[in-house]
Amino acid sequence: MIKIEKITVCGGGNGAQTLAPIAAHNLECLVDIYAPFADEAERLRARVAAHGGIQVVDAVQAQARPHRISADAAAVIPGSDMVVLVLPAFAHESTLRQIVPHLDDGAWVGAMPARGGFDYCAAQILSEHGRDDVGLFGLQTLPWACRIREYGQIVHVLGVKEVVDAAARPAAQIGQIAPLLEQMLGLSIGAAANMLALTLANTGQLVHPGIMYGLFAGWDGRPFGSDEIPLFYQVLSEDGAQTLLGLSDDVQAIRGRLESKVDLAAVRPLKAWLLRSYGEAIADSSTLRSAFVSNRAYAGLKAPVQKVSPEQFAPDFKARYLTDDVPFGLGVSRATDQLGKENTPTMDKVIAWAGARLNKDYLSKNVHEARIPQRYVLQHLEQLIAFATET
Ligand code: NAD
Repeated sequence: MIKIEKITVCGGGNGAQTLAPIAAHNLECLVDIYAPFADEAERLRARVAAHGGIQVVDAVQAQARPHRISADAAAVIPGSDMVVLVLPAFAHESTLRQIVPHLDDGAWVGAMPARGGFDYCAAQILSEHGRDDVGLFGLQTLPWACRIREYGQIVHVLGVKEVVDAAARPAAQIGQIAPLLEQMLGLSIGAAANMLALTLANTGQLVHPGIMYGLFAGWDGRPFGSDEIPLFYQVLSEDGAQTLLGLSDDVQAIRGRLESKVDLAAVRPLKAWLLRSYGEAIADSSTLRSAFVSNRAYAGLKAPVQKVSPEQFAPDFKARYLTDDVPFGLGVSRATDQLGKENTPTMDKVIAWAGARLNKDYLSKNVHEARIPQRYVLQHLEQLIAFATET
């Protein structure tokens, strides 16, 4: 296995502040943080200096001091064996554009989570810079449910998945990167055959917009008090579970239509993914609904809301559960299916509803704002399959 001397984590949020100490601890290597957003680098540096490092507590424990924290890619990207984007998907492209010019020969660049179409965007930027030596990887999800407790000091890990799938580009290189990811994260990595499988296996695209739809499609527009902010997972209704099942079925139908052309074994039905990921944390696995509501790792997480007056709240439709998981999730999977001219009824319903909340028509007018293969000159199914399986 390659010896990692240094990795750079891109981002300054919950996931980035969780990964940095865990990676430094598990790989016994230097970890830099690239945090160009707002004043994050400055704030992080000050807090880390005051506390002596970042501490991960509860479901995972680790403590380490990032080597350098910078808003300047030239200061931290050179010398990195691996660069990991732990960012919402909308920030992938701008971040990749800043880091690619500074990558060492043969470096690895990946995203945790990859969401849909990370490989289309990253491959295009690498190709613009003539960097065919750089390997790409993506994780199907973030391994942890995590929240910053004290910025730059303490991160609370509520739950950790037992196994997370990953894929690489070129696809065959998953055999090289998976053991490194296992060591870095301290958990099992399942090898997905290619990054198209990861795009379709992205369960955030089902769970987040699907539950938002279930919770708020019937919202009457009236603000509510803080005691009425719904739990996100634990109050899943039968109807909500039916929407999730419908979305999962749509993805399984896409898998079924493409499976003879490309290995999509990693694209699991939602309930199978949930049980595989959370195992013992789920008290009642009898139905999809019971598996969600009895999952210890989801306990207490609330729906995204915004304050509309000192005492009143409304659903936050601008939260990433729609703004990230539709254009970088459901919209990508649906567009993949459109290459085969098929149909996805529940996806269409949820995408149309989410689009209306965001003033976007991700089914037609604004479809090219989503990270869809067609935007990256992958206009035919054959081209997409060739891209996904390229060696
Ligand atoms: P976060 O909101 O804590 O962090 C977001 C970070 O992204 C910011 O700190 C900043 O560094 C960067 N960022 C935000 N806006 C930016 C912009 N306009 N330009 C450049 N950078 C910008 O997010 P997180 O909780 O760390 O989540 C990261 C990803 O992991 C998201 O896709 C999220 O959906 C996913 N995820 C998170 C969890 C979790 O428990 N935290 C669980 C599963 C999946």
